[in-house]
Amino acid sequence: MTVFHARMIWLIGTLLWFAIRYPYQRRSRAVPKASSKDRRKERTLLAITGLLVHVVPMIYALSGWPQFADYPFHPAVAVIGAAVFAFGLWLFWRSHRDLGTNWSIALDIRAKHQLVTQGVYQYVRHPMYSAFWLNALGQLLLLPNWIAGPAGLFGIALLYFVRVAREERMMLETFGEDYRAYMARTRRLIPGIY
Ligand code: SAH
Repeated sequence: MTVFHARMIWLIGTLLWFAIRYPYQRRSRAVPKASSKDRRKERTLLAITGLLVHVVPMIYALSGWPQFADYPFHPAVAVIGAAVFAFGLWLFWRSHRDLGTNWSIALDIRAKHQLVTQGVYQYVRHPMYSAFWLNALGQLLLLPNWIAGPAGLFGIALLYFVRVAREERMMLETFGEDYRAYMARTRRLIPGIY
């Protein structure tokens, strides 16, 4: 494993990330929304997150810029990074499959929205955000660069901490006791821990 391989693994993994999302995005676009929360705030948040999670490391993976921020590469660290990234991709796919057309990129409630508590959602309430964290961690381990490596972690930290409490509030407003009971028996990101 060389830096070039690590950069290509990140790139292919990221292309897979979009390939996994694409069919679900198309399908849920056809389902009307019943309501949307904080539309402008969400759009800004998603733009900044996208820049940090995808654009900054993409520039590095393709061009090697910013070179001044490089640090020594350790193949074993990158191998662990590739494994973490792959696990994140698997979880990303499973959570899309379980959410189906209830998925939205922002804080939306669909017409005939159903509360999903099955599949990977029986273990944690936010498996898709767990997948984001895993991919960002994988990115940090794959890309030996002080800017491109941790950019994704900053991106997902921003998205997660600005959003998660509002998302749960929206789910409580929509599903009431069902969501409260679901919250009582699950954690947010890591089964049994957090
Ligand atoms: N936070 C979840 C989902 C992310 S997508 C996760 O990390 O897996 C965000 C949208 O999914 C929200 O706007 C909401 O409409 C929907 N959503 C979140 N949790 C849900 C659940 N348990 N069942 C159905 N829809 C859910």
